[in-house]
Amino acid sequence: MVLDFRVVGSNNPNILNVQGMDYDSHGRTCVHEVGHYLGLRHIWGDGGGIFGGSSCSVDDGMEDTPNQGEQTGFSCNKTRNTCTDVSNDLPDMLENYMDYSDESCQNIFTEDQVSHMRKVLENQRKGLIESQVNTSEINNYSFIKVSPNPGMGEFTIHYTSDSRVLLYTVYDISGKLLISANPENDKQFKVFVSPGIYYINIIDVKGISTSTRFISY
Ligand SMILES: [Zn+2]
Repeated sequence: MVLDFRVVGSNNPNILNVQGMDYDSHGRTCVHEVGHYLGLRHIWGDGGGIFGGSSCSVDDGMEDTPNQGEQTGFSCNKTRNTCTDVSNDLPDMLENYMDYSDESCQNIFTEDQVSHMRKVLENQRKGLIESQVNTSEINNYSFIKVSPNPGMGEFTIHYTSDSRVLLYTVYDISGKLLISANPENDKQFKVFVSPGIYYINIIDVKGISTSTRFISY
């Protein structure tokens, strides 16, 4: 599975284009897709198909989501009600991550969805919990050594590859570019940042790109 950092988060620069229409994307596609990965169906139950048709007879299997006949079509209309139910008739839950509503109005999974995802995580996807990532092993593969890490504002960056540095960039945790430079001493240089979590990326003259995270208190 591949996830490009340029499409994640509300400040991502990429417009979501669906069937020739542009939408403001808040970079939450992955939230929806991980919902599927952890066993959730679309909130309208897919009875009428993914994009067209309508069916109130097919359910998403969750007790606490209202009956919904079709996807919301990237709108934010909170009064929309595609299924009229005899008891407990509620409008469509376009706030749900498993709808195709405008991402600016999505903000929930229901309690049933959460407990279903937890069950799937602990059974069908339990490899995610059991596999331990050895971070020291990852750091050994990187050509970038940051010291000290964590540190306090001033960091020495050491590029351990035998290739020369072409460009280094520093991003904050939200993906905002803070520094972009070509260091004079290409094996070792300093960066200065305020408290936070950062990523430094180095591209060398061979075109190899490496990234490492560092933390400033
Ligand atoms: Zn989906």
